[in-house]
Amino acid sequence: MLLLASAVALIALTVAFTFLVRTSDIPHVEPVSPVRHLEERRAAIYENLRDLQFEYRVGKLSDADYQTTKTGLQRELAGVLGEMDRLNGVKPTKVAAKPEMNATPAPVTDLGTDCPNCGARFSAPMKFCGECGKAMVL
Ligand SMILES: [Zn+2]
Repeated sequence: MLLLASAVALIALTVAFTFLVRTSDIPHVEPVSPVRHLEERRAAIYENLRDLQFEYRVGKLSDADYQTTKTGLQRELAGVLGEMDRLNGVKPTKVAAKPEMNATPAPVTDLGTDCPNCGARFSAPMKFCGECGKAMVL
C-alpha cells in the first residue's frame, strides 16, 4: 500500500515536472518571428566577422583563409539582409491589401479635373470637357 502510494506520488511528480518544463519551454519557441530569427542570425554573422578580423589581425589566419571565410560570411549576411528586406516589404503590402479603400480614393482626388470654362467636375482627366466641349487644361 505504501509502495503504491509512493508510485502514484512519483507519477504525479513526473507529470507535474514535464508539464512545468513544457509550459516554460513553449513560450520560448513560439514568439520568435522570422524577422527576430533573422536578426539573431545577422548578429551572429557580424560577430563571426569581428572574430575573423581579430584572428586575421593576430596572425591566426592566412590571407586566403581570411578572404574565403569573409566572402562566405558576407554572402550569408547578404542573404539574411535580403530576406529581412523581403519580410519587411511584405508586411506593409499585407496591411494595405486588406482595406482596399487605400487604393480607390487616391486616383479620384489625384486625377479629377474641373472644367476651367463651365466648372463641371470630372473624376478622370479629359482633353475636352464633356459638358461644354472646350479644351481642358491638364
Ligand atoms: Zn466645360
